[in-house]
Amino acid sequence: MSNTDASQLSTQSTADNQWVLASNNKGKLAEFKKLFRDANLNVTIIPQGQLDIEDAVEDGLSFVENAIIKARHASRLSGLPAIADDSGLCVPVLGNAPGIYSARYAGEHGNDGKNNAKLIADLQPIRDQQTKTPIAGMFVCVLAMVRHADDPLPIIAQGLWQGEILEALHGDGGFGYDPLFWLPELQASAASLSAADKNRISHRGQAIQQLLAQLSL
Ligand code: IMP
Repeated sequence: MSNTDASQLSTQSTADNQWVLASNNKGKLAEFKKLFRDANLNVTIIPQGQLDIEDAVEDGLSFVENAIIKARHASRLSGLPAIADDSGLCVPVLGNAPGIYSARYAGEHGNDGKNNAKLIADLQPIRDQQTKTPIAGMFVCVLAMVRHADDPLPIIAQGLWQGEILEALHGDGGFGYDPLFWLPELQASAASLSAADKNRISHRGQAIQQLLAQLSL
């Protein structure tokens, strides 16, 4: 602790309480803004795109590695504290694919239509074998917050949201794999939940609540 400036450990005394959000994904941005607003967080969240910060090279092998890489990158280029989300869908019968490659599962970054089609196709042989057994899946969200680019003590939070993977799209809200993510207890897909209902229970909602609990704001 002796070599560490106390301001680097506090989340309260950052420049005008501005944090960079290391994401340009519109769906995630909308969810983040709402969750932070609802939490009455005394922080202004600036998406990195507004500061002309390009996406980091995500070359980690896990969600947590990529979240830290993205947060450090945004903090280094902005000089501000940064928060990053790395999230995706894990399907255990596929060895947890698409996992960290969720956004580019079908080869083209952010093409939700192609990603969903590939997931449906990859699961078809397994469905043919195990006919009526539902295929389990989970959304994962890891958040990393760094107070400065070289912060040795990032704050990490992780949310898991369990569900089943559908054979066909269902519902027209949400983004990404939401139309294939079925919640048996609600008899609804993630794409048919309101934004507020999704935030209350989702992987991202859970991770943000955990993060807030760790921040002494
Ligand atoms: P990232 O931007 O590298 O973290 O990639 C996240 C990808 O995972 C997104 O592009 C979506 O395909 C998927 N994903 C993450 N969170 C959600 C969600 O809440 N709903 C649907 N898909 C999600």
